[in-house]
Amino acid sequence: MLQRYIHNTNSVQDSRPQDKRVAGFSDIEYVTETMIDLHTHSTHSDGTLSPDKLIDYACNQGLSAIALTDHDCISGNPIAKKQAEKRGIRFFPGVELEIESVQGSFHLLGLNIHKNDAVLAARLEEVQKKRKTRNREIIKKMQDAGIDVSIEDIASLAGGEVISRLHFALYLINRKKARSVKDAFLRFLSPGGTFFIPKEAMTLSEAVQMIHAAGGKAVIAHPFSLKMNFKNLCNFISGCKESGLDGIEAYHSEYGFTLCSRLEQFAADNGLIVTAGSDFHGEGIKNRKLGKTAGQTPIDDRFLDGLLS
Ligand code: AMP
Ligand code: MN
Ligand code: MN
Ligand code: MN
Repeated sequence: MLQRYIHNTNSVQDSRPQDKRVAGFSDIEYVTETMIDLHTHSTHSDGTLSPDKLIDYACNQGLSAIALTDHDCISGNPIAKKQAEKRGIRFFPGVELEIESVQGSFHLLGLNIHKNDAVLAARLEEVQKKRKTRNREIIKKMQDAGIDVSIEDIASLAGGEVISRLHFALYLINRKKARSVKDAFLRFLSPGGTFFIPKEAMTLSEAVQMIHAAGGKAVIAHPFSLKMNFKNLCNFISGCKESGLDGIEAYHSEYGFTLCSRLEQFAADNGLIVTAGSDFHGEGIKNRKLGKTAGQTPIDDRFLDGLLS
């Protein structure tokens, strides 16, 4: 991956402003033309940049292609697409769906969902409605515990359309009830936590069908988050092929490059496509830089091959 990315001559100039350059890569090493990102969030879920600002940011960072993959939400796609056309960057509409399975819940990316997505849109509307009910239940639990909070308080932290547990965590930090996001999840918002309310999610088969109907590819996001050992994970992924799974996001910012390479090899041996992403949520989250994945490696455009196959 890096060989195609890093240039060894003095002939390549980095046109980005000084403050946009990336530590560890000098101008001459940095060939912006091939850097992409296939996993990003906007304010339409829990990112901090609006869809059009995300596109502007991607252009400033020198990306040549980007997919928007908001949590259970596709309303940012047309806005990002329009801005991408204006700015001349390749755009792939996407989504990150929460999936329920006997192995626990996991995330599925729907990438390049460029055809009619009306069925998906309607189903996601239903999911959002259920999320709103769940949010009210979380508020109730917090109020019962004596915390002064309203849904408006949380909404103002979310800024966008979707309120997730992350925003409840931020509120708990602001009110000094938790020390960090991690602490808030550990004590309050994860299963077993004081304010935890489970969320109803889709099944893999249902999600894959809707992604395919919209012309997209279904790819398991950050597979290591399933917290299985490598062998069990490979067996699990193989089983998902029966539901129509197309591939896996082998490379993700949170995991080591060598471990991710093993997943890529597994995918290659098993006829699955491979993608790579940062899971960018805005500049706030360390180690989730736009265009960078496992080991802070720039994401090569070869990962578009599977998407377009
Ligand atoms: P929700 O969709 O409301 O269940 O919230 C999911 C979001 O909460 C994820 O996208 C993360 O941003 C955040 N999240 C979930 N679990 C954790 C955790 N253990 N630590 C930190 N953030 C988490
Ligand atoms: Mn998120
Ligand atoms: Mn995810
Ligand atoms: Mn994500």
